[in-house]
Amino acid sequence: MSEMEMAESGKTPKLKVATAALCGCFGCHMSLLDIDERILKLVELIEFDRTPLTDIKKVGKCDIGLIEGGVANAENVEVLREFRNNCDILVAVGACAVNGGVPAMRNQFDLKECLEEVYIHGIGVENPQIPNDIEIPLLLDKVHPIHEVVRVDYFLPGCPPSADTFWTFLTDLIAGEAISFPYSLIHYD
Ligand code: SF4
Repeated sequence: MSEMEMAESGKTPKLKVATAALCGCFGCHMSLLDIDERILKLVELIEFDRTPLTDIKKVGKCDIGLIEGGVANAENVEVLREFRNNCDILVAVGACAVNGGVPAMRNQFDLKECLEEVYIHGIGVENPQIPNDIEIPLLLDKVHPIHEVVRVDYFLPGCPPSADTFWTFLTDLIAGEAISFPYSLIHYD
C-alpha cells in the first residue's frame, strides 16, 4: 500500500500543513483554492494548521509550510522564522516568495521616497502624513525573497502557481515521490 493509500485509509496520521501570506496579494492562496473539489481529497490526506483557511493564528509543529509573499516588514520576518522553526519542509510559493515579485519593484527607490510618494504627494491625499504608529509593522528598506531570510526546501514559481501545480506538488510530496511537473506546469509569470 502506498503512503498516499495509507493516508487515505486513515492508517497513518494526516500530514499537517500550514500556510502564510507575507507581502503578497493572496493570489497564491486563491490559486490553491482553485483545485476546486479536489480540496475534499486533499483534506483526507492532510490537516490544515495555521492558514487563512482555518483562521488559526499561531503555527504549530507541521510537516509542510507554504509561504506566499516576500519579506517586506518586521512582522513578515517574525512569521517566516516561526514557520521555519515549526515546519519540516518549507516551500516558497509564487514569484513574490521566490524572488520578491511585484512588491520588490519598490527596491529601486529609497523607502523614504516611496512613503512620500504615497502619503505626501499621492493623488487625492488630503491630510499628508506618513503613518507612524507602533501597531504598524516596521517596513524593511528592501523587499526580500524568503530564501534570503531562512532556508527554503522547495520553490514553486509562477504568479501565481496554477492550481494543478499545487495539486501535483502536494500529492507527489504526500506520496513520498520525487516532485515531477509536466513542462506545461512550469512557468514564471
Ligand atoms: S506571486 Fe503573484 S499571485 Fe502570488 S502573491 Fe505574489 S503577486 Fe500575488
